[in-house]
Amino acid sequence: MSYVKPKKHLGQHFLTDQHVARSIAETLRISEPTKVLEIGPGTGVLTQYLLENELIDLKVIEIDGESVEYLQKEFSALHKRIFFQDFLTTDIPQLYGSETFSVIGNFPYNISSQIFFKILENKHQIPCVCGMLQKEVAERLASKPGKKTYGILSVLLQAYYDVEYLFTVPPTVFNPPPKVNSAVIRVTRNATQQLECNETLFKTVIKTAFNQRRKTMRNSLKGIITVSSPIVTESIFDKRPEQLSVNEFVTLTNLIEPYIQSQH
Ligand code: SAH
Repeated sequence: MSYVKPKKHLGQHFLTDQHVARSIAETLRISEPTKVLEIGPGTGVLTQYLLENELIDLKVIEIDGESVEYLQKEFSALHKRIFFQDFLTTDIPQLYGSETFSVIGNFPYNISSQIFFKILENKHQIPCVCGMLQKEVAERLASKPGKKTYGILSVLLQAYYDVEYLFTVPPTVFNPPPKVNSAVIRVTRNATQQLECNETLFKTVIKTAFNQRRKTMRNSLKGIITVSSPIVTESIFDKRPEQLSVNEFVTLTNLIEPYIQSQH
């Protein structure tokens, strides 16, 4: 077997523990034929277990040419289903049309937030995402209101997905070991098709609020609503963003919409 030398700039930390690899592959809980996309297969430690499952119709996207060559040699069953490209610039309809597919991976940690923003853009065709990422980011994605870890991606993701923190993985099971702990999460689409508010404004409100997370909503939203707005006397404006649930952000978005300054 040849060997792929891990490249730091691609976030390559290859899993060396077969037991952990199998546990991650099993988090998808497949019970019927399912299309699955693996992001960053590397040398295929997760891929081998995904291929074992006959219900899984697998495609993989890998940015590293050396890993792609390795996969082509070692996994003949993957023939033509290996895409040598960057997930972040991948045209999803070209891979899947409008069909649904689930996502799995031991994700490249340097781009894990961007991966989830891209998943959100394509949420209507992605029912489930399972994978490993830095523990700190996993905690943020799963965080509930009232915690320090609650932030932009917690609210945006939880608006459309249920997030489960499954288990923690130590640096010792990787080559090379990352500097941080890792964690595996499962992210499952909830019943919300559309939020009951202007979704673009919802995103603006969340970003504006968390960029000044110590301020009350009254102060941080000053820049986007007209000063004379009568609504800012309501008590929800006394809160800071980390105290607001997804539903409260929806309520807030509806409250301020009539008072938005024209450039927003
Ligand atoms: N799944 C393997 C590798 C994990 S390391 C294992 O568990 O051992 C992360 C992998 O993501 C690397 O193989 C890296 O080359 C790949 N990668 C990094 N950036 C990527 C991107 N933008 N698109 C697709 N793959 C990427």
